[in-house]
Amino acid sequence: MDQIFFNGTIRTLDPAIPLCQALAVKDGVIMRMGTDGEILSLAGPETAKIDLKGRLMLPGFCDSHMHLLHYAQVKNCLSLFHATSLSEIMELCAGAVAAAKEKGSWIMGLGFNENNWDDKTLPTRRDLDRVSQDVPIVIRRACFHMMIVNTKALELLGLTGEKQETTTHRIGFYPDGTPNGFLQEETQNLVQLSMGTPPLEQIKELILSAACDAAAMGIVQIHSDDFEAFAGNQAELIIQAYRELAEEGKLPIRIYQQCLLRDQATLDAFLDHGHRTGESYGAGLFRGAYTLGPLKILTDGSLGANTAVLRKPYCNAPNTKGIHIYEKAVLQKLFDTAHRNGMQIAVHCIGDGAIEQTLDCLETAMDTCPRANPRHGVVHCQITDIPLLERFRSLNVMAYIQPIFVRGDMDIVDDCVGPELAATSYNWRKMEDLGIHASGGSDCPVEPFDILPNICCAVTRTDLAGSAPWYPENGVTVEEAVKMFTIEGAYASFEEDIRGSLTVGKLADLVVLDRNIFQIPADEIKDVSVDMTVVNGRIVYERTQAKTFSI
Ligand SMILES: [Zn+2]
Repeated sequence: MDQIFFNGTIRTLDPAIPLCQALAVKDGVIMRMGTDGEILSLAGPETAKIDLKGRLMLPGFCDSHMHLLHYAQVKNCLSLFHATSLSEIMELCAGAVAAAKEKGSWIMGLGFNENNWDDKTLPTRRDLDRVSQDVPIVIRRACFHMMIVNTKALELLGLTGEKQETTTHRIGFYPDGTPNGFLQEETQNLVQLSMGTPPLEQIKELILSAACDAAAMGIVQIHSDDFEAFAGNQAELIIQAYRELAEEGKLPIRIYQQCLLRDQATLDAFLDHGHRTGESYGAGLFRGAYTLGPLKILTDGSLGANTAVLRKPYCNAPNTKGIHIYEKAVLQKLFDTAHRNGMQIAVHCIGDGAIEQTLDCLETAMDTCPRANPRHGVVHCQITDIPLLERFRSLNVMAYIQPIFVRGDMDIVDDCVGPELAATSYNWRKMEDLGIHASGGSDCPVEPFDILPNICCAVTRTDLAGSAPWYPENGVTVEEAVKMFTIEGAYASFEEDIRGSLTVGKLADLVVLDRNIFQIPADEIKDVSVDMTVVNGRIVYERTQAKTFSI
């Protein structure tokens, strides 16, 4: 045996042997499970023996929808979320000037909110010029709807000559009619275009650093949507970066790519390259370190902006039902093409109108070209009634849910859709009862990819800060929540036979927690720490510091 983990409380999620004390691993595969006596007797001189000291071991976690490269970029930004004055913002930016100058890079600050400052006045480009006139500086507001840049950045964006009367951009002006450095809404995209795409080696570094952070959260697999992390769609470059890391044996965890391809031409080009769901790379024991997953499509927006598509008008905006991103015929053609070519499909839908449109199109695609268990799914899947959920069951369409979204959404859903529809929405209980395959994710960087607060939300339906539970009858048990973040994630990548629960013959992807989440009050689960993460029997993370969870 290569490794023996013993003296543990091992919850396997395998009904045949739900609980054991020890397990033995060889070549990354679980060979035996049983009591300490049984398993330790298998040890040879080379066997690494890892004492779990009574702690809880589970199958390693899966985050079934997130954006790893976007997370890596946000992580590299200067955090302005906690600044309490303009002078603090200026000091933080000033501290980053030397490093940015050396690298020839921009200073990207993220998360300022002038409402938290004593003097609530917004700075302009001239204020930021006092920090630097030759390093481009961008600071982005916490809402993401606006940013402020200095004169150097404005020059690089080609906006210094803009005139208030003639500009086609959403930018701000001084009273004298010259740009003041404010960029709003889609005009902000110019910054990413101007910064361009980092070189391959840098993308690989971003991936590795982010993947190591995920491993520290007990995550052994992520489903990540990355193709638009930089300017435009960079599918080939991003596949190459992941592929090289996988073949070099450097990825600490498994990555399943959600392939965002927004239009027919981009999808056709991708298929012409020969890419399909299941294309997989990895070295040695770590087969499948990087695998291409489903076509990812977005069909609506968000509830907060009233752009998620509802079947009836918004209660708080009766003039709108949201905005379909695709006409049905266009969406149908995308799905038909992907389905016929052996692609899995995962579709961003938040409102019930978007979900209905997607289910209709998936149903037609599957009827026209029958294929065994293609495992198409709906990402987010928030606003539902019971008949809509019953269609998931009858079509065998999966749901990719983000339980932690309730903490932000619980205050707006009733206003948007009314209490009757809210009561059957975010309805994980009904998904379980109907036998719908529902996997759990964070949508990181929208929410952190710390799995334990997410499990906590799935069970408690609170905001994790002491709120009353929101439709608590739609919550799930701790065991059901754990399955969403383990075996259901493996199911969503066609791997439930080799991972996702602890069974002899499956891969040894494991997590060890410092407390037994099945024995503590549910609202304390968010504070539980990951002590160890194991992929293919190899320890990829071991905790050295106490966890600090903040919301
Ligand atoms: Zn997302």
